[in-house]
Parts: sequence; C-alpha cells; structure tokens
Amino acid sequence: MMTAVKETRMLLGGEWVNRKETITVRDPQDNTIFTTVPKASVKDALYAIETAKEGAKISAKLSVFERMNIIHKAVQYIEDNKERYAQTIATEGSKTITEARAEVKRCMDTMRLSAEEARRMHGETIPFGQREGGDNRIGYYYHFPVGIVAAITPFNDPLNLVAHKVGPAIASGNAIIVKPASLTPVSAILLAEALDYAGLPRKVLQVITGNGGEIGDVLVTHPAVRLVSFTGGFETGEAIAKKAGLKKISMELGSNSPAIVLEDADVMDAVQSCVAGAFGAVGQNCLGVQRIYVKEAVYHAFVEQFVAEAKKYIVGDKRSDETMMGPLIHEKEAIRIEKLVDEAVALGATILTGGERDGAFYMPTVLENVPRGAQIIEEEVFGPVVSIFKIDSVEEAIELANDVNYGLQAGIFTKNIDIAFKAIHDLEVGGVIVNDSSDYRVDAMPFGGVKGSGIGREGVKFAMEDMTEKKVVQFKL
Ligand code: NAP
Repeated sequence: MMTAVKETRMLLGGEWVNRKETITVRDPQDNTIFTTVPKASVKDALYAIETAKEGAKISAKLSVFERMNIIHKAVQYIEDNKERYAQTIATEGSKTITEARAEVKRCMDTMRLSAEEARRMHGETIPFGQREGGDNRIGYYYHFPVGIVAAITPFNDPLNLVAHKVGPAIASGNAIIVKPASLTPVSAILLAEALDYAGLPRKVLQVITGNGGEIGDVLVTHPAVRLVSFTGGFETGEAIAKKAGLKKISMELGSNSPAIVLEDADVMDAVQSCVAGAFGAVGQNCLGVQRIYVKEAVYHAFVEQFVAEAKKYIVGDKRSDETMMGPLIHEKEAIRIEKLVDEAVALGATILTGGERDGAFYMPTVLENVPRGAQIIEEEVFGPVVSIFKIDSVEEAIELANDVNYGLQAGIFTKNIDIAFKAIHDLEVGGVIVNDSSDYRVDAMPFGGVKGSGIGREGVKFAMEDMTEKKVVQFKL
C-alpha cells in the first residue's frame, strides 16, 4: 500500500497555501521523505512583498501591549507543542533529539525576550541648548519600524535563528517575509503556526518556501524591502550584499573559530569545552571550535585527553536519547568534509582519530600537523573536524588565530588576567570568551562577527535597532 506524502503549506499573503510544484524535505539520516513544502515562484515572492506592504501598516499600528501579548501567547503554544517542534527539528535537520529539545527552549527564550524588548524600545530627549540659540527648542527621538524585513535563514538552527528575526521584527512593528533553508523549512513554518494561533494579524508574517537561487533575488533587490536580514554562508552573504542596493543589510555569516589554551589553564576543563564546541551539532555551528592553539608545556596532555574524549562520542540514530552526534545535513556535505580532510593529509596533516565517513555520517575527527594555508583551517569546515597546533607564545597564537578571513568568536583558557586582556584587545572577533571555547552565546547579547563573519549584530535588542530608524522630533518654543 502506498502512503501519501504529507504536504506542509506555506504562509503567503495571509493564507496557508500549497503549490503544484513542491520541494521534498527528507530526513538526512536515512533519506526518507518527511514532507513536501510548496516551491514558491518569483510571482509568489512579488506577491509576498505586495501584501507585506499592507502587513507593515498593520504591524506598525499594533500597540506594544498587543505585540507583547501575541508573542507571549505564541510562546505558550510552542510550550504546549514542544515535543512536536523538537521532533520536527530532529527529523528535517541533523540535530539529535536532545539538541533539538534545547533549540526549542532557546526559541521560546528568544521570543520571550522579544516581547520584553518591545517595552524597552524607547528613545531619548535631545539637549538642543548645546548649540548657541538652540535653547528655545525641546525634542526627542524615537524608533520607528523600517517597514518590510526579508529574512533569509540557514539549515543549522532552523527554529531559533528564525525566531531571532521574527521576534524582533514583530516587537519593533515591522512586517517580515521569511525564506527558510530549503533543507529545513518546516521548523520556520511551525513558528508561523504559533504566531498565527496567537492572533498575529495575517500579512505581518509570511513564510515562503522556495529555492534561494530563484526567489532570493526578488526579496533582496526589491526596493520595498528595507532590510535584508541574512544568516548563512559567506559566499551567499557576499552575493546578497552586492545585489541588495540602497537598503539595510544584516549579515550573520560563518567562521572557523579559534581556541587558545595556555600553560596555566585547567587542561581537562579546556578539553571538555573544546570537544563540545567542536562536535556539537555535528560541527555545523557558526561558533564551532575549528582551530585549537595549545602552549607547548600542556600540548601532549591536552591532545591525549582531547582524543580520548572524541573517541567517547556516541554517533548514530539522532532520535535516540543516548546519541551525541547525528548525521551531517546531507551526504554531499559529508563527502565535502572527507575531501577537505584528505587534502590536509596529502599536505602533511596527521589524523589522530576519526577521518571515516559512512553515508551522511562523519566521525569526530582530530588533526595535527596541518600546514599553514591548508583549506581545512583557512575555510569554514562546518563539520566535526578540529585541528590542534602547538604554539610557543600567546603572541604567536593570536597572530595565527587572526590570520584568516573570519572573526566571529574566540576562546582563551588562562588564569593570567593580563594575558586575558591582551587577547581580548588583540583578537579580531565579535566576542572573546575567557576560560571557555568560542561556542557560547545567550540570546540577549550582541552577536555577530568581523571580516568575513558578517556585518551588524543580532541578539534581540540589537536586531531591533537594525529593524528600526530613528525619527527626531523638535518643538520650537
Ligand atoms: P547558505 O547555503 O548560505 O543558505 C542560507 C540561506 O540562503 C538559505 O535559505 C538559502 O536558500 C538562501 N540562499 C541561497 N542562495 C541564495 C541567493 N542567491 N539569494 C538569496 N538567498 C539565497 O547557508 P547554509 O548552508 O544553509 O548554512 C550554513 C552557513 O550559515 C554556515 O556558513 C554558518 O556558519 C552560517 N551561519 C551563521 C550564523 C551566525 O549567526 N553567524 C548562524 C548559523 C549559521 P536555499 O536553502 O533554498 O538554497
């Protein structure tokens, strides 16, 4: 007996719609079909923008009280359905069920934070008397919404990274059109379901599923879209930045984050932080630890314990509570990583553990002796591979850490406060973490990178700054 494939609809122009042409969403673990979503056309994208114009007017008129209530009600809906949300993330994506449950919790935090920030979005009075003759004026500035935000999101945190755009957009009175990753579109649709249930006026939020290469240009180049908020890879981000024209852009891109371990560090603590940072979410994490610079005196102890911990990783069925690492998002990603490791080995690198692929699975892999210039350290691997280097001084570690085109976050393990401050000042990144790896974020902090890691900052309050403009009001007395 043939079982019908489940169809999931998209939210376009205030209606839940399907389309004859669809995208098949598969479970990367075994390639089984999870569902289909509509394949939005260029016409659909244009229609989304036209209806978002109405949505922007409706959204701007919602009182702060109404925005907060709607968001809180949506959070309650997610709480009531949290296992379904987690199962969706763990089916369409490559996270384990444990990681998926944690992401649902993070999403609820992000949305709650958005509701709270709505009440804190206030301006300031301006002391006009600072200019000679200006003391007969009184005034202030306040924030008003940009209008229409186009949000383009990646596969690796398919719910919370969408919440990081949708929550702030609604809290600041905008209309938002989300174009989620084609590999993991259903989690974004579930977020829209929660807000729809909570009474968000239709047309304020749209989620259109479709191929980024086909409908992306419409969203990015259309003059009515006032902010393109993108999270994804460097190449896509750069292409979008070139096309966007005169509008705001926010770019949350990738990295190949460094960790520095000095001789006074608690080595076992550093090992555990770096192992979790390197292999969490199969290394498909923009903050993931990719390069570790270890002072000579503790190098052997660090490497020995790191390899032992990596070998303990339970890789397998992502739906099992015991599993620590599932498959990559697609077999072709695992093949790409295999090639990067093979290339590094051909250049002289040594595999200390891992280096094996089975379909979409790639074992936690530790390399040493990777020569400078090898792609595996220059580029973002976005997989469970980490390279460890012996260094003579903190200066050398900082120089090597900075010698790439990325700069999202970095970690340094030391008890020496002077050295910690040197690293804080000299590391070219958006965030430095002392005594932990690069892989730590709370959703309220300014989050983003320098160089090829992006432009601007997310973290609800900071995203809301991007999603608003300041208007000055003056009264001449
Ligand atoms: P990606 O390939 O760049 O895709 C991201 C999104 O862009 C998808 O929705 C994709 O749609 C869309 N897209 C593709 N081509 C486009 C075009 N020409 N115009 C407009 N949109 C287009 O990234 P990914 O592989 O999904 O995600 C992994 C990357 O995201 C990594 O580099 C990671 O570091 C980065 N990331 C950064 C952060 C951060 O906060 N800094 C967080 C998470 C992830 P389709 O899926 O339809 O192709």
